[in-house]
Formats: sequence, structure tokens, C-alpha cells
Amino acid sequence: FIQMYAEKIHLRGTRHGTMLVFRDVTQETEVDRLKTELVSTVSHELRTPLTSIIGFTELLRYRSLQPDRVDQYLGMIHQETLRLEDLISNLLDVQRMESGQQAYEYQPERLHDILSETIALHQGASQHHALTLECDTNLLVYGDRNRLSQLFTNLLHNAIKYSPDGGKVAVCVTHDQADTIEISVQDKGIGIPESAISKLFDKFYRVDNSASRKIGGTGLGLAICKEIAEGHGGSIHVDSSVGDGSTFTITLPKYVAEDKMSS
Ligand code: ADP
Repeated sequence: FIQMYAEKIHLRGTRHGTMLVFRDVTQETEVDRLKTELVSTVSHELRTPLTSIIGFTELLRYRSLQPDRVDQYLGMIHQETLRLEDLISNLLDVQRMESGQQAYEYQPERLHDILSETIALHQGASQHHALTLECDTNLLVYGDRNRLSQLFTNLLHNAIKYSPDGGKVAVCVTHDQADTIEISVQDKGIGIPESAISKLFDKFYRVDNSASRKIGGTGLGLAICKEIAEGHGGSIHVDSSVGDGSTFTITLPKYVAEDKMSS
């Protein structure tokens, strides 16, 4: 973005002419956009769970309820509190990554273990979706276990969130290439419009449709995934079509044990 304005030139009190000034404000516009997005996302994402928590705690305090109702409302409060925790940890992660404070602790890890643990956690939380895993049990990656878990957690969370109940989510790992491993997370959910794909991994970006608005979110999950994939020397990309579902693919460098031992 270029901003243009006229500046009058005065010398010893006499007007000598007019200067046209061109300023590249691309960076500033982006910072402004991020600030606006941050304020609106945070206020919306804080307000929605807080409203539910206030509502349910009032019901619990002032009404005499059957024990199963009490359980149900406590469950809702717990869920909304987790949503708040999620928001805060996403914001902190983004801030840490931006300031370069996110330290990675790389070591050889069994990819199958990381994926099966993450899948088990999601399967436990959502019995309405069928999650499957295809991965060679001996395959190693050189990575930070916590960060990789966070990456797959975000992808699985989205696959479930943007799919109707009964949806299938398939995680497949292929390593036929000489030097890379591909991990794909495929869902049969609402899909992503072509026009959104180029902005999908930007911070705070959310697809502007009624489904995404209803579901809620911060637009930070995929930006974090991209940072983590790139932090491992890899990349992320998506294939999707509206109504058919989405496949997110992470490409990571293959781990060659001898290389690491000799270095
Ligand atoms: P959010 O917190 O909004 O889910 P993300 O950064 O994880 O943020 O995702 C950005 C946007 O990409 C989402 O708002 C949603 O519109 C879209 N999206 C992400 N994953 C999927 C998916 N599996 N299916 C459909 N849309 C998705």
C-alpha cells in the first residue's frame, strides 16, 4: 500500500513549492489489521465463554436443580473454561514464536507414538467422529515432541470441529520420497473455499462464512501449525473443496540416524 500526500515547502517564510510524498505503508497497514483482528477476536472469544459461565453459575447458585442438571451445567462450565484456556495459550504461543522465544528441543521421536497419543485424546473427547491412523510403527522423526503434538492436536481439533457428527478423520503417513515424510489429516467436513486458501495460515484469519462464525475460534491454530512445521524444516499445505472436506499435509524431513550421530 502506498500513501501519497502533498507537503508545502517554505523557505524563510516564503512558499517555494509543493512536494509530493509517497510512503510505503504496507507494513503499518498489516500491523493495524493485526491489532484490529486481535481486539475483535479476543473480545469475542472471551465474551462468549464468559457469558455461558456466568449464566450457568447463576443457575447453579439460585435454582434448586436435579443432580443430573447440576452435572450437565458443571460440564458446560468446564468446557467453556477450557475454551478460555485454549485462547490464552494460543495467544501466548503466537507471542513466544514472534519474539523468537519458542525454544525447540529436538530429538529422535517415534512418529506413530505421537500421532496415536494425540488421536486417542481426541477420540476420547469426541465419540461422534471416527479417527483412524495409518503409520509405520518404526518411523522416526527428529523433532520436539510437545510441539509436534500441538501441531497434530490443532489439525485434529479442526478436522473434528469443521465436520458434522459421524464424520471420519483419517491420519495417514507416507514416506516413499527419498528425503521427506508426509503426514496428512483428512476430513469429510465443510471444506474451505478456494479464495480463502492463500490466507488460511495467516494469524487471526478465519473463513468468513456462517459455519465458521457459528463454530467460533481464534484463527490462530493454523498459524501455529505453520510455525511448528517450519521450525522442523518442513511445511504445511491444504487441499480442500467446499462440501467435500479438507486434507492438511505436513511435510517433514526424513530422519537419518547416522547423520545425527556423526554430527
Ligand atoms: P480457528 O480457531 O478459527 O479454527 P484456525 O487457524 O485453526 O482457527 O483455522 C483458520 C480457519 O480455517 C478457520 O476459522 C476455518 O474457517 C478454516 N479451517 C481450518 N481447518 C478447517 C477444516 N478442517 N475444515 C474446514 N475449515 C477449516
